[in-house]
Amino acid sequence: MVTIKAIIFDLDNTLYNEKEYIFSGFRKVAEYLVNKYGFSFQEIYDILVTDFEKGLRGKNFDELLNKIGIKEDIEVLITVYRTHYPQIKLFNDAQYILDYLYSMGIKLGLITDGPPASQYNKIMALGLRKYFDVIIVTDELGVNYRKPHPKPYLLVLKILNVKPQESIFVSDSDQKDLAGAKAIGMWTVLVDRYNTYKKSLYADYVVNNLLELRKIIKEIGV
Ligand SMILES: [Mg+2]
Repeated sequence: MVTIKAIIFDLDNTLYNEKEYIFSGFRKVAEYLVNKYGFSFQEIYDILVTDFEKGLRGKNFDELLNKIGIKEDIEVLITVYRTHYPQIKLFNDAQYILDYLYSMGIKLGLITDGPPASQYNKIMALGLRKYFDVIIVTDELGVNYRKPHPKPYLLVLKILNVKPQESIFVSDSDQKDLAGAKAIGMWTVLVDRYNTYKKSLYADYVVNNLLELRKIIKEIGV
């Protein structure tokens, strides 16, 4: 019999909707340009949102500057975006399950890739500190240790003092996050909120909703 002692979560799109973060950052960048150049907020913000919704990724600020005909340092806009304190909130089921797991005394860990300044602002804005026994922002270990590298997973388990088979990794990313967790022998749960996966390669369980974790913990435990 296995008892689940720890659950490790991914952050972006697992506990909250990353699109909310992106749009929150777009608002800050728009405010910055409005203050500096006197554009209308709505004009700038609408360009950013429209381009994003059309699928543009990575060159969004370059494209914006092209469209409004301004020469501005891209790095400054990226810094405004990455260091902003976001207006975001947990998914309802994420809020519920964190309260539930915390009250059950299950150890909780978080492993997240991404710029540390951004990730810590998200963690603060979502009020996650109080739930998690350990939070790893992988870029602080070195950029080569992003998921699925085994290092952050092994580090979390060591800090929590639990074995891989006593732990579950929960994420919206099969190929990256769950691949790494599976490779070291953790249980894996894929959060497929919008039924986008045809099949999963690394998930022991696929769920639409984090509330299903309650049942999974019991299932593994018998
Ligand atoms: Mg994610």
